[in-house]
Amino acid sequence: MTRLILATRNAGKITELRAILADAGVTHELVGADAYPEIPDVKETGVTFAENALLKAHALAKATGLPAVADDSGLCVDVLGGAPGIFSARWSGRHGDDQANLELLLAQLLDIDTPHRGAHFACAAALALPDGTERVVEGRLRGTLRRSPHGTNGFGYDPILQPEGDSRTCAELTPDEKNAISHRGKAFRALVPVVKELLG
Ligand code: IMP
Repeated sequence: MTRLILATRNAGKITELRAILADAGVTHELVGADAYPEIPDVKETGVTFAENALLKAHALAKATGLPAVADDSGLCVDVLGGAPGIFSARWSGRHGDDQANLELLLAQLLDIDTPHRGAHFACAAALALPDGTERVVEGRLRGTLRRSPHGTNGFGYDPILQPEGDSRTCAELTPDEKNAISHRGKAFRALVPVVKELLG
């Protein structure tokens, strides 16, 4: 059985992709980057989600000699021209400070009325092989930004993004409900035929 490595140390992402691959009948064993602790994280120097996902996938495929999957995601706000985008995790200046990132964004949008508060989560998922072959797919979750946080599930900007057609924010959805509609779920599911094509 071929091993497939996912460029993340996030157990939730590994579980999600593993379930999607298993549902689709893909039998490759999926392991996280933690299985190779000696390999350093890659600097995300790309300027698009796709570039960053490809950078991470290629680096891991080269270092391990295994097919590698990587994803990169963020929130894109219409009225901000797609920002925070690739800067989503460090919008407030402190990488990974979800609370500060969300508060800054809400402050920036204070005067913006609901019809103009459209936004989407975007995710690029890349597959790279050790020989340099690459594919990248994308998924989106479209919605509207609320004026204050609601809900306690999820992470990042989940408490303010209300998916189209729902009256709850992503942080008020169960993990299964979120995975079913999320940008990452869509990108991972779009990767299944690519995995089948390239890895058999
Ligand atoms: P990453 O690419 O998964 O590391 O995500 C980068 C950043 O985008 C996170 O730190 C969050 O701020 C934001 N983000 C990505 N996906 C989501 C999501 O599903 N919910 C909320 N925030 C997200």
